[in-house]
Amino acid sequence: MTLRYPVNYIAITQYYEKGVHNGLDLGWNSAFGGNNQPIYAAEDGVVVAVRKDYQTTDETGSSYGNYVKIRHNEYVSTLYAHMAYGSVSLNIGDTVKKGQQIGLMGNTGYSKGNHLHYEVFINDTKVNPVLYTYVYTGQIVSSNPDARQDLLYYEEPDEDIEVLKKMITELQDKNRLLEEEVKALKEDLKEAQAYDFTYQVNKTGIYQIKLYEGETLYIKN
Ligand SMILES: [Zn+2]
Repeated sequence: MTLRYPVNYIAITQYYEKGVHNGLDLGWNSAFGGNNQPIYAAEDGVVVAVRKDYQTTDETGSSYGNYVKIRHNEYVSTLYAHMAYGSVSLNIGDTVKKGQQIGLMGNTGYSKGNHLHYEVFINDTKVNPVLYTYVYTGQIVSSNPDARQDLLYYEEPDEDIEVLKKMITELQDKNRLLEEEVKALKEDLKEAQAYDFTYQVNKTGIYQIKLYEGETLYIKN
């Protein structure tokens, strides 16, 4: 199981700080993703909590606004907060696929601007998402060094290597067959180049002899 960043334009506006800010804020600018950009499930899972009726931004408090929480396995869950009103249609119990759109970035709940507050839970403890979430191929990371510290990058399994290994095996099989064929042809050639001759010794009988290339026959009286 590997968590994928839940937005395709990755710009971190606030890092995790245990007990102070228990998630990761992902933001945007007009040249980078834009606001209201899609939010995607970080991994396959089941929706275990959802709120979608929040219409406002709160000046104070701790509200997630509209949010979705997804359980990925026995230990790991993720949460996506402050989503735009009207952008969430999932319900508790729904299954989601990794990379499936689950809502739009918004500004609902306790939020000071359009952003995604993203949390990762391991055994119900909120951990630093940066340590568990990977940038996948096709996702764009902000060039601003403050917005991209120490990100993990997912290495796609190298399909090219598998294809090459298969080709080598096939060629080796073919090579073995060709070697067999060459061997058989050499046998045929040897037969074709042999001298067949017949000689008669007195009246005892007719002898048939085959002489292969390089061989000499001595006949003694
Ligand atoms: Zn936050």
